[in-house]
Amino acid sequence: MEGMTGLRFRCTGCGACCIGGADHYVEIGRAEQEALRDYLGLSRPWFRRRYVVPVNDKVEGIRLGADGRCPFLLDDLSCRVYPVRPLQCKTYPWWPELLRPAAWKAEARRCEGIGQGPVIALTTIRGNLNLPTALPPSVKAPATRGKG
Ligand code: SF4
Repeated sequence: MEGMTGLRFRCTGCGACCIGGADHYVEIGRAEQEALRDYLGLSRPWFRRRYVVPVNDKVEGIRLGADGRCPFLLDDLSCRVYPVRPLQCKTYPWWPELLRPAAWKAEARRCEGIGQGPVIALTTIRGNLNLPTALPPSVKAPATRGKG
């Protein structure tokens, strides 16, 4: 974050962050899985079979479509599970690895909301979002379209 005091961002709801590439994933821990499962009214075995894939031997993720599309992204680009979306989605694009000038600029190729809207102070971003520091640095995944 050196040299950065604030960032411009305003979500346009384009949905691009909900569609990843081959190396993209959305991490979901067990508590997040339970929240999603409960919200969708599904049994645990059915939910896990349909929506969960191993990313590695410690991490599980949402099973994305062959085109990288999040299964919860609806045709109108809204999120079917918005109230219980995973932390990774809630915090995009404020991921620690993106809060560097070069990374933020590069991410703007993916997210059209970057560079739009008023400047948001990094202190506000950190304070309001209680940024996690434990997200793996390689995470690049569909997040969510903020609605406000
Ligand atoms: S966060 Fe960015 S990529 Fe995602 S919907 Fe908003 S503007 Fe589009």
